[in-house]
Amino acid sequence: MSVKLQTPIDYLKGVGPNRADLLRSELGIHTYQDLINLFPNRYIDRTKYYKINELQRNNAEVQVVGVITGFREVAQKRGKRLVADFKDETGTMELVWFRGQKWIRDSLKIGKPYVIFGKTNWFSGKYNMAHPEIELQSNHDSNLRSAMQAIYPSTEKLSNKGITNRVITKIMQQLFIETKGQFVETLSDSIKGELKLISKSDALFNIHFPKSPELLSRAQFRLKFEELFYIQLQLILKNLIHKSKIKGFPFDKVGNYFNTFYNEHLPFELTAAQKRVLKEIRQDLGSNAQMNRLLQGDVGSGKTIVAFMSMLMGLDNGFQCCLMAPTAILSAQHYNGLLELCKPLNISISLLTGSSKTSERKEIHKNLENGSLQILVGTHALLEDKVKFKNLGLAIIDEQHRFGVAQRSKLWHKNTSPPHVLVMTATPIPRTLAMSVYGDLDISVIDELPAGRKPIKTVHRYDNNRLKVFKFMKDEIAKGRQIYIVYPLIQESEKMDYKDLMDGYESISREFPMPEYQISIVHGKMKPADKDYEMQRFANGETHIMVATTVIEVGVNVPNASVMIIESAERFGLSQLHQLRGRVGRGAEQSYCILMTSHKLSQDSKTRLETMVRSSDGFEIAEVDLKLRGPGDIMGTQQSGVLNLRIADIVKDKDILQQARYYAKSVLKIDPSLGLPEHKTILNTYRQMHKYRNIWNYIS
Ligand code: ADP
Ligand code: MG
Repeated sequence: MSVKLQTPIDYLKGVGPNRADLLRSELGIHTYQDLINLFPNRYIDRTKYYKINELQRNNAEVQVVGVITGFREVAQKRGKRLVADFKDETGTMELVWFRGQKWIRDSLKIGKPYVIFGKTNWFSGKYNMAHPEIELQSNHDSNLRSAMQAIYPSTEKLSNKGITNRVITKIMQQLFIETKGQFVETLSDSIKGELKLISKSDALFNIHFPKSPELLSRAQFRLKFEELFYIQLQLILKNLIHKSKIKGFPFDKVGNYFNTFYNEHLPFELTAAQKRVLKEIRQDLGSNAQMNRLLQGDVGSGKTIVAFMSMLMGLDNGFQCCLMAPTAILSAQHYNGLLELCKPLNISISLLTGSSKTSERKEIHKNLENGSLQILVGTHALLEDKVKFKNLGLAIIDEQHRFGVAQRSKLWHKNTSPPHVLVMTATPIPRTLAMSVYGDLDISVIDELPAGRKPIKTVHRYDNNRLKVFKFMKDEIAKGRQIYIVYPLIQESEKMDYKDLMDGYESISREFPMPEYQISIVHGKMKPADKDYEMQRFANGETHIMVATTVIEVGVNVPNASVMIIESAERFGLSQLHQLRGRVGRGAEQSYCILMTSHKLSQDSKTRLETMVRSSDGFEIAEVDLKLRGPGDIMGTQQSGVLNLRIADIVKDKDILQQARYYAKSVLKIDPSLGLPEHKTILNTYRQMHKYRNIWNYIS
């Protein structure tokens, strides 16, 4: 049975080589198995027929019975279209074809009753339907109609080539005939019993051909659960195997560096959350397993000091450590900050970026290899093959979403044995998503900001209030504060965006003239050295205003900057807005975030702006963002492939995800090797998935 499901789709009756090629290229369907797993997008009621005078201007898919009264060819810009007049006893409409006109013309008969099905359009005072599914009523009646007819995913090419939903439904029926609708069970009896799940065969039948709404919803639940269960099982297993197989360097002592820093040089009292996270990291580093931990903490929550103290644990045990950041600016900022902390401890630290001079590089390479360099900070440049450590013990990656999984693993291979890895991110990924995306990492969260921070006051202002905003800026500058003004930079409209930025810069320059006011500008088209120079001037307090595109989004720290003005705020995503706002509120002063927009706002934009004004909680904001945008757009999830889910939806099915994770964990807890007889089904399914690499569609 299970062998049969791997049969190439070409062998299914009614498919043939041409259709098989299309199914492969358009839908990725290679085998019977792939076809059975082509789940419908939705269901429509094919027992309902509309009269033409009942149609509404809502582009709905409808089914109408009527006769064709005549054909016309209408010339259009390119080629011509074929139009048929179609009428029932209540009115007339048009059927339209842009392709395949000769064949259609020849095969359709005037005056015979047909059933048409498709989307209606309202055009020039009349309804029409382009490329309808069309069938003689006499044939139509002989087929069983369902009130829940599956509608499958399709592509333009498929429908152009005549592989309509009806064709897919037919070959699906054929598949059920050839397999007798019998499919191997994939979940254990106990899980099925506890969750009262229907069998795999029943679920597959009812997902494609629902017998009742109740059975359809049970089929959906079962298939979603199964999909999420095996993903979680895979992630948890990976983690377990990792922990047991991959030996880490045990950092078993807490020594001089750590203690001296903690007792004598700590610049502030750590927050309870920072202490807790340090303990978690300490525990990992002290065990025999390699640490692979994600540190989540909202902007300004103080991840850097945690990173530094973790590195001290490494140094205390005679290892080197590195910190990698996504941009040159950020790396330099980290380097400068850490340099101050390293000085009193006599720790050697260097910075390596793409623009490091050859002589500096040589020096760094040498000192890394002989072990005299203890901490290396830098960009992607750290990943170059020439960069070899004597004994790298801990690698820290800041702002994870800019780096892919591949890069993480590259760091691993900088040594004979992989170093401990700490990944830090300020993008607060909701836990539900984090556990499905980063299930292979352990997660620590800094969920508390250092004491004494004043919450940032966030307001929404329309463009026509700009004069008031300028006045406010002048008042703040008079108090000695600095200001960011950020413009959107969205790939598709790059040219327009630069124009907006330059126009904005000009009008700001007019409003804030030199020499009284000094303005910096930073954007993506500048040379890195010029960017650094401008950033530095702003950081040193030499300029009052920083006009920028989102290049400053990540990480920069200028505590004296207390106002963040975001232009065209409606064009930014929520996480981005939150990240940008996090650039202020780092000093003791009251900080402000001003969201500038035009009056024209979509519903989603309004929700985003309201959320920003109402909340400063990164996790709450991320949840709203996830609801608005879906998981695919959340930074850092693209490469993880969460979008490739066949039937479950990480956002909507979060409760099922939780259940799936719970069951996957409980199974592995009592039976980590899946060797028990009652887990045989699970083991077989898991192996099968690996064999046919299905699971790698999800996780790579
Ligand atoms: P992020 O988590 O965004 O990387 P940083 O590590 O840059 O945050 O910290 C933000 C600011 O807060 C820095 O100026 C840092 O010195 C300060 N800071 C960090 N921890 C504390 C603390 N426990 N008490 C007071 N200030 C802190
Ligand atoms: Mg940071």
